[in-house]
Amino acid sequence: MSTPAIAAPRGTRDYLDGDGAALLSCIDIHRRVSSLFGYRHVITPIFEAAELFERGTGTGTDVVEKEMYSFTDRGNRALALRPEGTPGVIRALAADPAVRDIRPYRAQYDGPMFRYDRPQKGRYREFHQVGVEVLGVRDPNIDVEVLHVAWETFSALGIGNVDIRLNSLGSREDRLHYRDELVAYYTPLRDELCEDCRRRLDTNPLRLLDCKTDARHVAAAPILLDGLAADTRTYFHDVQEGLRAEGIPFTVDPRIVRGLDYYCDTTFEFWHSSLNGAQNALGGGGRYDGLAEVLGLPHTPGVGYALGVERLMVIRSELEGIQQGLSPSVLVIALDAESVKHARTCATALRAASVPTALDVAKGKLDRKFRWCERMGVSWCIMCGEDEVRDGQVTLRNLQDRTQERLDMDACIARLAASREE
Ligand code: AMP
Repeated sequence: MSTPAIAAPRGTRDYLDGDGAALLSCIDIHRRVSSLFGYRHVITPIFEAAELFERGTGTGTDVVEKEMYSFTDRGNRALALRPEGTPGVIRALAADPAVRDIRPYRAQYDGPMFRYDRPQKGRYREFHQVGVEVLGVRDPNIDVEVLHVAWETFSALGIGNVDIRLNSLGSREDRLHYRDELVAYYTPLRDELCEDCRRRLDTNPLRLLDCKTDARHVAAAPILLDGLAADTRTYFHDVQEGLRAEGIPFTVDPRIVRGLDYYCDTTFEFWHSSLNGAQNALGGGGRYDGLAEVLGLPHTPGVGYALGVERLMVIRSELEGIQQGLSPSVLVIALDAESVKHARTCATALRAASVPTALDVAKGKLDRKFRWCERMGVSWCIMCGEDEVRDGQVTLRNLQDRTQERLDMDACIARLAASREE
């Protein structure tokens, strides 16, 4: 009887072939763009105390209540795989005396996140996010800057037409006032609400606005923006002016809310029309001036965003002409044992000239090696045999039109560079 094969866990995926390169290319681009804005890389653990997310992401959110991978380790500690990046980054930065006093502190992060979500296209149980957080100041210019970094990231990824939906949640007082208004509006409707919303009405009324089932009631609900106090209204006005000054388009959407108490002022989501339905958000974020205190840390205002890398990849893969990362563009083949040294020298020279190069010094039929190239999308072969070693040259074969020529190495590198520009 044969042993059954083990499949990848539901909701996870392997990144094979070009997919691995495509994922890393999105992450690299975000690293490059946020570094250009002065954001420093922060790497935090993939698992944390479960309480960090219970407090930071919030009991009462689906992410914590229904989707978190919580477990007890062998030392009986309650841990969780991180469902999002922000609480870990804040925990690390707001607790570190060496960085706590650097205001603003600009941080960037990326990596895998875990949620027990219902898997479907663009939604996984292990997925990747890239994000930034700016800690230490409450200033509309910083909110604008964070949106600017996201905007430049989309542009560097070749993703146009991102719809920025912007809202303000105002101050804590604004929200307490608004919460009362929502409760007054929803209470007479209780019997018509879905089960989740009946619970939300008692536990976290702001989250009623997230409901897709009771969309009709959401559409007619009172609007928080209408009741903002003067100073929070000015803050929101300044954010909008700043975005206009940077030429970043946005739409004010009063339905973009985050149902947690520590969120305040600016909140936003990034949408894209080529993502469907519930998966149309590329990412989101906002200001969370109360979060550090919820985690038991000194008061540290902050603002940030997270983007879903798999969603960025879906859009990029629909765009033609986006380079999905580098696969080798050349295979160097040693035709016999005596040519291995020459082949190695050639491969080293090509790599030094930034030509992605694979080397094959194994015995074997040339036909097979050419077939390997075809499957890997490699379009050039460099062959080194007795004659090439003797003359200090190589034979360059174009696998597409099957022509070949004898050249010395410099000419070969120039020829390959020219072909990449064609
Ligand atoms: P959130 O922290 O829920 O605001 O999520 C930020 C972004 O992460 C979303 O807009 C998605 O792009 C992405 N995201 C969240 N959950 C998933 C998931 N289960 N699979 C893939 N991407 C996700």
